Amino acid sequence: MKRFRLISQITFFVIFILIFFNAIIDLNDFSGGFSLKGGIKYIFIVDPLITINTFLASHRFELIYGFSIIFILLTLVLGRFFCGWVCPFGTIHHFFSFIASKLNFYKKDNKQTNFYRLKYYLLFFILFTAIFGINLSGYFDPLSIVVKGFGIFLLPILSLFYKLEFLPDSIKDFLFYNILGREDYYYGQAFAVGFFFLLLIVLNFYKSRFWCVYLCPLGGLYGLLSKYSLFKIRRDDSCLNCGICNKYCIAQAEPGSESFKSSECMLLFDCVDRCSVRALDYTFYNKSSKIDLTRRGMVSSSVSALVGMSLINVSLIKPEKNPSLLRPPGAENEKDFLALCIRCGGCMKVCPENFLQPAFLQAGIIGYWTPIGNPSFGYCVYNCNLCGQICPTGAIKNLAIEDKKRFVIGTAFIDKNRCLPYAYNVNCMVCEEHCPTSPKAIFFYEHTVLKNGKEYIVKNPMVNPELCIGCGICTYKCPVSDMPAIYVTSIKKGGLLT
Ligand code: SF4
Ligand code: SF4
Repeated sequence: MKRFRLISQITFFVIFILIFFNAIIDLNDFSGGFSLKGGIKYIFIVDPLITINTFLASHRFELIYGFSIIFILLTLVLGRFFCGWVCPFGTIHHFFSFIASKLNFYKKDNKQTNFYRLKYYLLFFILFTAIFGINLSGYFDPLSIVVKGFGIFLLPILSLFYKLEFLPDSIKDFLFYNILGREDYYYGQAFAVGFFFLLLIVLNFYKSRFWCVYLCPLGGLYGLLSKYSLFKIRRDDSCLNCGICNKYCIAQAEPGSESFKSSECMLLFDCVDRCSVRALDYTFYNKSSKIDLTRRGMVSSSVSALVGMSLINVSLIKPEKNPSLLRPPGAENEKDFLALCIRCGGCMKVCPENFLQPAFLQAGIIGYWTPIGNPSFGYCVYNCNLCGQICPTGAIKNLAIEDKKRFVIGTAFIDKNRCLPYAYNVNCMVCEEHCPTSPKAIFFYEHTVLKNGKEYIVKNPMVNPELCIGCGICTYKCPVSDMPAIYVTSIKKGGLLT
């Protein structure tokens, strides 16, 4: 069984990698604007935590996520097989736990501690806050963490690697056409995302599969279900009570004792393989095991959810008062957006000009790592709607390209103290040249100036707020590059009444 489990882990990990890296710009198809080779929503269809939590927070349900019901039903029959056989983040942890054990980082002592309950409390905390419209699943869901870790942390590293001079062209071509899809990846929050991702991995050097055993709320959800599963590991009377199975169970389920917890068992089958008298078997056994959640723990997780929500709410930044809150085209109402976005980073991964960046505190604590447009990094490409195409939850609507071109995310304003024609009476038309709308949202007001006794015509650029969509290309291209003389803020149409 262990061999089959290994094959399954590798197979699902490869499938994850293929889906993840296939979700890049299709460089062979620009017929109707930009298009994607694949999507990442298929990664999340095995994730009932995202399905339930997003539904609770937003009251919306995408049909494709109904697929996760299959995983719920399979867990009710087989047990927590997802964690041991399918989850790509679990496989990463398993790999590093294996390395850690080979390097003798810890004794083989997988004695159960009460800390395994933490993941259940975290699960209740997340679900409880979702009922009040706050979607925290993206910070703790393993699939969201791994997609974000790969997209926001690993891809920028690979893009640096791609730029190495000595790299053979064949490798560069492979990287460009199959993995990167574009040359530059840079994110202001790459370090923070990478730190969080690596920290969870490093914890495996303290305890095998630390994240899965103690913290993962999706593991907690599957654990709750597998408490009632029809098939479980069962110990028969030939058991010698030698305890070797408990020692080798990195899920700390203690299969060789009376306190065996099927909710913790990830069906890794190390215990079955190690038992010298074959006293353990995976068989039909519909006796449910206890999870031992304390009332105090449950109350604490509910109270902390309430306190957390209050803190989040008092620290909420009014979106309409925040000039840098440029949401992606297709994100309409801020409240719905926050309830739907699972902070997976998919939109930022595919944004061709690095315009979409993980937010720091621009959208308040609750908006951490949600996508915001930042014209210092790049601009929103006019005929591109890739963020809407990739967003797995519909937080960014998949707009038709003609609708996307009209979607207003902000308005540009000119700083006359820095704009060259205004400040120095010299002509500059960079912003007007790059403005993509038709007709252009930047126009000129001509006036005559006297310089060294001669008359010159100077064209001063002006923004027509009725036409500006806030794409930020003018800001990005402005030659006054340190602090551009034209900037975009989140107010739509310049605040004009319509
Ligand atoms: S506990 Fe979480 S991260 Fe670990 S395998 Fe299960 S679902 Fe994946
Ligand atoms: S908006 Fe971006 S980060 Fe949020 S769910 Fe959609 S793709 Fe993921």
